[in-house]
Amino acid sequence: MSNSNRQRARRVVIVGIPGVGKSTVVSKVVDMLNAMGKDPRVVNYGTVMLEEAQSYGVKSRDEIRRLSVEKQRSLQVHAASRISEIEGEFVIVDTHLFISTAEGFWPGIPLDVLQALKPTNLILVSAASYEVLERRQKDQTRFRDSATKESLEKELFAASALLYASSAIAGCPALIIDNAEGDIEGAAMRIIGAIASS
Ligand code: AMP
Ligand code: MG
Repeated sequence: MSNSNRQRARRVVIVGIPGVGKSTVVSKVVDMLNAMGKDPRVVNYGTVMLEEAQSYGVKSRDEIRRLSVEKQRSLQVHAASRISEIEGEFVIVDTHLFISTAEGFWPGIPLDVLQALKPTNLILVSAASYEVLERRQKDQTRFRDSATKESLEKELFAASALLYASSAIAGCPALIIDNAEGDIEGAAMRIIGAIASS
C-alpha cells in the first residue's frame, strides 16, 4: 500500500447523553471494523475513571457523578493522561460532553482534556427525546437520572452546541448520528462511513 493510500490514524471521540444507545452503537462499530480486518482500541472514559475512583469508595460507574466536582475533576485529568497514551490505527473513546452533577452540567471535555485526547473525529450519537426517555426507563443495569421529555430536549440541545464548540477548538469534523429505534446497524454504518471509508 502506498503512503497516499494508507489510512491516517483515527482518534474518534464518541459522545452522547446517557441512554442514547452510545455504547451499543460503539460495539456495533467495533464489530464492523473487525469484519474489515481492523483492530480498533476502544476505551470507555468512565471505566478508566472508575478504576481510580475505587480509592474514593466508589463501586459503580453511576456513583462517580455524585462525587464532589473537585474529585471528579482529578479523576478526569488522570483518565485523560492515561487515554492520551493509547495508540493505534483506530482509537475510539466513549465519553460525555457534559456530566449532570449536583452543581449543574459539568464539561466532560474541557480544553485540557480535548488537547490530551487529540480527536481526529468528534461524533455525537443522538436520538429523539422520547426514545432516550424510553431507553433510560428500560435500562435496569444502570442508575440513570430521572428525566422528562423537556429536560432531555435541553440535554440534547446542550450536547449539539458543545459538540460544535469542541469541533471548532479541536479543528476536527463534528458529525451527529441519529440512533433511531431499531436501526443500530444504520447508525454504526454512518460512523464507519465517516472514519473508515477511504
Ligand atoms: P458511562 O459508562 O459512559 O455512562 O460513564 C460513566 C460515568 O463516567 C459518567 O456518568 C461520568 O460520571 C464519568 N465520565 C465519563 N466520561 C467522563 C468525562 N469525559 N469527564 C468526566 N466524567 C466522565
Ligand atoms: Mg455508555
